Amino acid sequence: MSNFWFGEGLRKGRKTEKFPLAPPEEPPLWPSYLDGNAEPYCPTEAIKEGMWDPGRCIFCRLCEPQYKPTGKQGIFQVRKTQPLLKKSFYIYKLDSGACGACNVELGTIFDPQYDANRLNIFMTNTPRHADAIVVMGVQTERMKEALKNAYEAMPEPKLIISLGACAISGGIIGKSPMEREQYHVEIAGCPPSPYTILEALSRARGV
Ligand code: SF4
Ligand code: SF4
Repeated sequence: MSNFWFGEGLRKGRKTEKFPLAPPEEPPLWPSYLDGNAEPYCPTEAIKEGMWDPGRCIFCRLCEPQYKPTGKQGIFQVRKTQPLLKKSFYIYKLDSGACGACNVELGTIFDPQYDANRLNIFMTNTPRHADAIVVMGVQTERMKEALKNAYEAMPEPKLIISLGACAISGGIIGKSPMEREQYHVEIAGCPPSPYTILEALSRARGV
């Protein structure tokens, strides 16, 4: 795998995205902001009374062509920022009951294409060293206690971040592990794109 990135680097001169100085070179259409105004069938009720809720959307495309993706990546909501974490930001991921895809996309931000480390964002394997907990997946009985224990073990100041439709709203298959209002940051998508994740994490630190 490292040979691939080495080759790409040689071919293009560089491979890492220019974020935050420039938008993504090839922004994905799915997931991105949906634009429309009809009342099509939506299995998760992400569209209600003409309003689209990104946190409920699983980007199944059943609402096409009444709703269309715009390519705009900022499908996240930051309710609380923590500028104290600008210089170093350690995240702890907790998979409460995810399918695996949110996990993969979160891991991708540390690949050479996004290189989150250059933005002082790191992963930690213990909540005791974490500035933020990133919750993925629906609520499962066995992970309830683990989530509570992890959150309590984190030092202040700390942020709670939901990643993906399952964690935000329960998606199509379950219930969210926490009440939606408890999250400081919501990152929508099923799964969210690495660019959206990176931008949301940066905003959460007030960058
Ligand atoms: S993409 Fe699917 S989940 Fe999202 S609004 Fe359209 S129908 Fe609903
Ligand atoms: S939000 Fe989508 S991608 Fe993420 S865990 Fe749920 S089903 Fe999987």
